Amino acid sequence: MSAEPLLKETLIKRSQQKRRTSPLNYKERLFVLTKSSLSYYDGRAEKKYCRGSIQLSRIRCVEIVKDVGGINPCHYKYPFQVVHDTNTLYVFTPSQESRTLWIQHIKEVCVCVCAPSEIRDNQEILTKFHPQFWCEGAWLCCRQEEKQAPGCEEYNLFGDASRKPLPPIPAEEGKDGRCQRMLPPEVDEEDGDALEEIVVALYDFAGSEPHDLQLVQGGEYVIVERCDLNWFKARNQQGEEGYIPSNYVTEKKSGNLARFGWYSNHVNRNKAEELLRKEDKEGAFIVRESSTQGTYTVSLYTKSAAGKGGAAIKHYRIRETRGMPKQFYLAGKHVFNSIAELINYHQHNAAGLVARLRYPVGKQDKSAPSTAGFSYEKWEINPSDLTFMKELGSGQMGVVRLGMWRAQHQVAIKAIKRGAMYEEDFIEEAKLMMKLSHPKLVQLYGVCSQQRPIYIVTEFMEHGCLLDFLQRRRGTFSPASLLSICLDVCEGMQHLESNSFIHRDLVSSHTGARNCLVNDSLMVKVSDFGMARYVLDDQYTSSSGSRFPVKWSPPEVLNFCRHSSKSDVWSYGVLIWEAFTEGRMPFEQSNNHEVVTLVTTGHRLSRPKLAPAAVYDIMQLCWQERPDDRPSFSQLCLMISDALEVDAALAN
Ligand code: ADP
Repeated sequence: MSAEPLLKETLIKRSQQKRRTSPLNYKERLFVLTKSSLSYYDGRAEKKYCRGSIQLSRIRCVEIVKDVGGINPCHYKYPFQVVHDTNTLYVFTPSQESRTLWIQHIKEVCVCVCAPSEIRDNQEILTKFHPQFWCEGAWLCCRQEEKQAPGCEEYNLFGDASRKPLPPIPAEEGKDGRCQRMLPPEVDEEDGDALEEIVVALYDFAGSEPHDLQLVQGGEYVIVERCDLNWFKARNQQGEEGYIPSNYVTEKKSGNLARFGWYSNHVNRNKAEELLRKEDKEGAFIVRESSTQGTYTVSLYTKSAAGKGGAAIKHYRIRETRGMPKQFYLAGKHVFNSIAELINYHQHNAAGLVARLRYPVGKQDKSAPSTAGFSYEKWEINPSDLTFMKELGSGQMGVVRLGMWRAQHQVAIKAIKRGAMYEEDFIEEAKLMMKLSHPKLVQLYGVCSQQRPIYIVTEFMEHGCLLDFLQRRRGTFSPASLLSICLDVCEGMQHLESNSFIHRDLVSSHTGARNCLVNDSLMVKVSDFGMARYVLDDQYTSSSGSRFPVKWSPPEVLNFCRHSSKSDVWSYGVLIWEAFTEGRMPFEQSNNHEVVTLVTTGHRLSRPKLAPAAVYDIMQLCWQERPDDRPSFSQLCLMISDALEVDAALAN
């Protein structure tokens, strides 16, 4: 009875870093508040999935976390804190309402756990707390560097002015009629008993500065410090320490498949089929996450499918046995303790599969991803480290050339024309922009700001801009390959959206397919995000200017210059249209002035021939008159992934 939930919601939890070396991570967890505890679960609210639980009697403070300035670490933007014992649990909610509800309810039940008279005298309840995060060794609010330093703002358990009365809590059947203390065992598996966090290198990393540590693919390293989201300090087996890019390593935990060459993250059924067909080898396989979260599928390619006389691809769901400990199987007779053991077995024995798993197709074929800058906290690039090669194109702000950095890395170098940009403002912002690192964003590596012209150095994208790519390859795209392009862009935009990255500017910089670039693995990435803020050209920045991207702008931008993430969504709808017309100009027959009239009177682009109805529906959602009626990028990512799954299922 005590387990009857008072509140239940999937929220995001920051790891509590109880030890200096415990990892900083953000995980989706199902939070459940009962009259005795606040617990969080990995998936279902069952004991076996419980990852942590705090007795309410141990809670010393529950409050919002203020001023989450800068880059938001996860896509839920409303954090609150639960101070208990000597730790602080940070939880992120998706909305302000949900945060208020959680805080109020926890306060309410905390009061109930101790009788009000007790709680007033309770030494455990804080009188002062820290209103901002503990981050990278200091309290952001008061800059104190001691984790147990006393708080810097008054805490009042009862004095919350915004509080509305809550529905009564169902009474526990305690003899004295008051809430009974239930003291479940305190567990906190996630923040780990492991004293050392060990990671495995997914790629080689040479390191460019003396303070970097070299990584060798497959090698194991201990994380000494998580400096920020993109860089860690690590130690190798010889005891040497240095900085490493966080996206080059993965946790060495059992159950973490990312460290295996045969596992591919973020590969859906359709993409798996594309990769396997491209490889065209008997027994080629990929292990990937299934469409049902938390389960895995083996996609297997055979060149001699019985009865089909040709190649076929089979998708086998990896099944789990009931009961604990969990075991895994593909074919009923052969059951294994881990997925790694299962794959290893089927690499040697077909045992019911159309072929044995002969040839893993995965990240071992892929080149290493970009790093957020060339080293930790290094944004200024020495121009003498750059060599210039051919011209790639020229745009609003200057000429872009292919170059090399220290003769090691290919880069794109944009030399900014005199008078084209608010340079000082941009240079400041560049430090923040560099931290935006995502596989679907063109990485900013740094700037040469000590000279004129200034150079902006970014990841090089071999196939140039998406618009040219679409036009050059007209007639070769299937609807699925066009959807894949749209999904790439959507994922990049979702990352910006989840970091609250100055959305109001994205519309004017994100002028459709020109600001998306294509690399040699045909992956599409969003570039120049946020750059329009620094353009010094009225014709480009004013909505009546001749170079303003009118055809990509929603009514609220055209009429009131009102930018938001939802105006980016409108532009994104136009980008889908450009993809499915293989690079045609939207509103081809109309000039900018006519487009303003058309759009504000409710006209929309018509369905491209290549676009299935479901895809046109998505475009139309992006072009809803009211910004609030348009989906977010995270919703769009789900819609497009679903459309891709359906497409793949139909093709089979
Ligand atoms: P715009 O001002 O139109 O957005 P840019 O100045 O960003 O254009 O780029 C001009 C052209 O240079 C692009 O159309 C593209 O062909 C090429 N280019 C820009 N950045 C890169 C890059 N990182 N990798 C490869 N080509 C690039």
